[in-house]
Amino acid sequence: MQRWPTAGVDEGRVLAVSQTQTSHEGTPDFKRSAALALANARLRAAMDAATRRQDTGRRTIMPELGDPLAIRELGARIKDHTLRNLDQYLAQLADKVRANGGHVHFATDADQARDLITRIARDAGVQRIVKSKSMASEEIHLNDALEAAGFEVTETDLGEYILQIAGEPPSHIVTPVLHRNREDIARLFADKLGMAYSTDPPTLTAFARRILRERFKAADMGITGANFGVAETGTICIVTNEGNGRFCTSRPRVVVTLMGMEKVIPRMQDLTVFLKLLAKSATGQRMTCYTNLMAGPRRPGDFDGPEEFHLVILDYGRTAILGSKYREALRCIRCGACLNACPVYRKLGGHAYQSVYPGPIGKVITPLLRSLPMYKDLPQASSLCEACYEACPVRINLPKLLLGLRDDLVKARKTPFAWRLGFKGWRIGMSSRWLYRTGSRIGRVFMSLLSRNGWVRRMPMPPGSIWTQYRDLPNLDPRPFHKRWAGLKQQLDKEGR
Ligand code: SF4
Repeated sequence: MQRWPTAGVDEGRVLAVSQTQTSHEGTPDFKRSAALALANARLRAAMDAATRRQDTGRRTIMPELGDPLAIRELGARIKDHTLRNLDQYLAQLADKVRANGGHVHFATDADQARDLITRIARDAGVQRIVKSKSMASEEIHLNDALEAAGFEVTETDLGEYILQIAGEPPSHIVTPVLHRNREDIARLFADKLGMAYSTDPPTLTAFARRILRERFKAADMGITGANFGVAETGTICIVTNEGNGRFCTSRPRVVVTLMGMEKVIPRMQDLTVFLKLLAKSATGQRMTCYTNLMAGPRRPGDFDGPEEFHLVILDYGRTAILGSKYREALRCIRCGACLNACPVYRKLGGHAYQSVYPGPIGKVITPLLRSLPMYKDLPQASSLCEACYEACPVRINLPKLLLGLRDDLVKARKTPFAWRLGFKGWRIGMSSRWLYRTGSRIGRVFMSLLSRNGWVRRMPMPPGSIWTQYRDLPNLDPRPFHKRWAGLKQQLDKEGR
């Protein structure tokens, strides 16, 4: 039985507080932001409905692949092969992009990437920038840097545009505004954009579209992420459902693509595997509405396209993952299926994770990309139910990676002292028959004094009190397991089974 903490929590402040992402001194405070998110019944309901809808969409459409497991394993093998030969494929991609007339830059960290892109914009005399959705740009806080440098930046994915107006980070890697319902958005458009209040989605969309059209027309520069970079041809692939990626890459005279280094794939034919997996896993669609392939700047005779194209390839912690036991995390194609399947994400939403990447993949790559001691709570925030592993189109064994991170935390003595003491006591108790039996006898008496109708609502001390802060604890069975097992065995023997 679960209970949600609501007393004393101002629900209206939940999102805002969880966005600030830190307690004091810049340290992420996952437990606090998770408690605040759980206290928000409206958020829980919105997340639960949206993630279940997307998860059901994925489950319904995947069988259309015929043998989905075989294609998912093929995707995993292609990614593993690429990661083993990443230097070679990145060099090939860079050569091809240059041969196509583009410029290639390598950025080792966020500062370098921000400086590079700001310099490109300055050198090209840019004033107005339109952006399509890019998680890599969220990682490096690109908008803040560009705005501080005096550029006007407009997010053009509708969800990202809403978040830009609201001043919030995304809460999902595919559908960034999943946590907000249409009433929220109607209120936001009325307050910030002066639109007459309406909760009608086509009216809201048409209003945003009119603004965005003008921004597209006026933009000097487009910035995009990359879903895939094809080494064989130097082609960048961007998929969107709104066509804004196509506008960002065809209309402005300068285009910059910011690509995480793990997004390279060897050949054009590999792209077909990932396009099938990505759309189905992300949104339950057969194909994403717009699949944009871009190979450098406009050539003579081209109808549209930029005069100048830059590819910025971002490391920012990825090389360290590549050389570690966690390499398979770099297979990720950012489909968000693991988020939709995760019972923890479904309740919390994305902001509680206090990282650009939430959900199961966020719990793995955020500590790896940034800092395990700083994000030490994230690997623990999992029931290890394996729903994420079952959903992942490239077969990343996220539960195994989470256990690896927990192991690293234990070895680095980054787990709380009380835990270490508790588990030591547990090990001693479990390795002695006498201690185990005596301990369970005492526990049974203790629990029966506290329980009502088979459940304990409040344990007086940790670790039980931490559990009963949000849930009831079932009473221990009056007959210990070994006695029940002996009885069952006797019965089976009698029945000759
Ligand atoms: S880990 Fe797998 S399921 Fe999760 S976002 Fe990445 S590819 Fe998708």
